[in-house]
Amino acid sequence: MASRPRERPANTNLYRAIIDEAHKHGMKVFAHTTNLADAKDLLRAGLDGFAHMVRDRDIDDEMLAAVKQRPNTFFQQTLWGERLSFYASKPAWVDEPILRETFSPEEIRLLGESFAGPENPAARAQGATNLRNIAKLKAAGARFVLGTDTGGVSGGQYFGLGSHIELELLVSRGGLTPMEAILAGTRNAAQVLGLDQLGAVAAGKSADSTRDASIRSICAAPRSRAPN
Ligand SMILES: [Zn+2]
Repeated sequence: MASRPRERPANTNLYRAIIDEAHKHGMKVFAHTTNLADAKDLLRAGLDGFAHMVRDRDIDDEMLAAVKQRPNTFFQQTLWGERLSFYASKPAWVDEPILRETFSPEEIRLLGESFAGPENPAARAQGATNLRNIAKLKAAGARFVLGTDTGGVSGGQYFGLGSHIELELLVSRGGLTPMEAILAGTRNAAQVLGLDQLGAVAAGKSADSTRDASIRSICAAPRSRAPN
């Protein structure tokens, strides 16, 4: 959840060489970092995408200018990974019947109990910074791609559910429109991975589809198959 302190300063010459060499071979480079200073320099170095948001401090004008110069660089918000920052108590969706189709009673119990931990002001502050930075990046026209940290330290093993709750949080906390959130998980994600056949319902694509109802009410999307 909280950013781990960096073990040593990032080697700027090393990551420049990695980015340059990767690009010569048609490969993209993504960074797992959460601090503003590194993010700004990685943007200058030509990074393709960020696996997390800057959340150690508010994004400044210098970074916003760099983002505008590199509009194809993407950002993942990983609000699922930071979910304990956003809920004051166990959210109702933990007890929804559809979870029992995928997760064991033990997994659901552990998930529910995770929300009962002690208050963590530092994590809550980072979550709030993340949300402010989403708004700034959105205003600057940045590209958002859905990512959850599921499988990571803070994400747990709740594959599938994490993506649905990420969608919901992008709208309810992150200020994206439902369509912007869905595009983050479909069109934008396909584009950054170079999956030309996926990500949209359009001529020439392989017709992956999204539910119209999900667009109208993103908060219903995770449980759209659940009995009422
Ligand atoms: Zn991570």
